Amino acid sequence: MTNQTQYPAGALIVAEHVSKSYPVGNSTVDILHDVSLTVSEGEVCAIMGPSGSGKSTLLYCLAGLEQPTSGEVALLGKSLTRSTRKQLAELRRAELGFVFQSYNLMPTLPVAENVALPFRLRGERVDRARIEAALDAVGLGGRGSSLPSSMSGGEQQRVAIARVLAQRPQIVFADEPTGALDTRAGRIVLSELRRIGSTPGQCVLIVTHDPAVAASCDRVVFMRDGRLAQQMSAPTTEGVAGMLASLEASVAEVA
Ligand code: ADP
Ligand code: MG
Repeated sequence: MTNQTQYPAGALIVAEHVSKSYPVGNSTVDILHDVSLTVSEGEVCAIMGPSGSGKSTLLYCLAGLEQPTSGEVALLGKSLTRSTRKQLAELRRAELGFVFQSYNLMPTLPVAENVALPFRLRGERVDRARIEAALDAVGLGGRGSSLPSSMSGGEQQRVAIARVLAQRPQIVFADEPTGALDTRAGRIVLSELRRIGSTPGQCVLIVTHDPAVAASCDRVVFMRDGRLAQQMSAPTTEGVAGMLASLEASVAEVA
């Protein structure tokens, strides 16, 4: 199987003409329309848009967790549509990090073991200090022996964040990573994500509704009604907030 590059060097996430529909009753609902997007190494990119505009669906499609109805997604120069299930699983395990609420936490495995899981799955030695530092960063220092099943949704999301911080994968996908955090923890997580994203060979893609979070990214793409509506480089909090407000107003007008 040839699934190696015809993609530009340094392009870690490439989406080409991605569309996604869901069956609803006897018909289908189109959620994403012809979305093309490239995220390059060293880049932290935010996705913003009104509620229901398709941000999470796009993130899931780009992360290989949902299959687009049409179009292509390539990660690290490898086409997802042309990868086998096994290749996808290996890619996910080795190179991708996910910050979704309670994503893939093992409810009956202690928190520290959940954070250590990517290392164990790869047969690597687990660096205890690194695990503890990651838990500290998300305000869960000393909670390593707790069980996720005894934690709130927000705490579980923080465990998922700690896992990504400990692993420092090549691509991080994050859906509202600071939503469940207080201001201080949010700032720490964001700066850790920025550090991962600005490392050569790595990138971070964040869905957020927080203009301050988006403004701390290198680029913001705005969605409206399942399409990419705008892009902003060198974003500012005011610029982002203004753009979001105008997109939300235009959605409300149509509705
Ligand atoms: P956002 O993250 O921007 O709020 P989502 O990507 O979660 O938006 O959802 C976009 C639209 O797709 C919403 O109208 C939502 O109801 C719909 N949607 C999401 N998942 C499904 C699904 N599995 N089946 C049908 N509709 C869905
Ligand atoms: Mg969402």
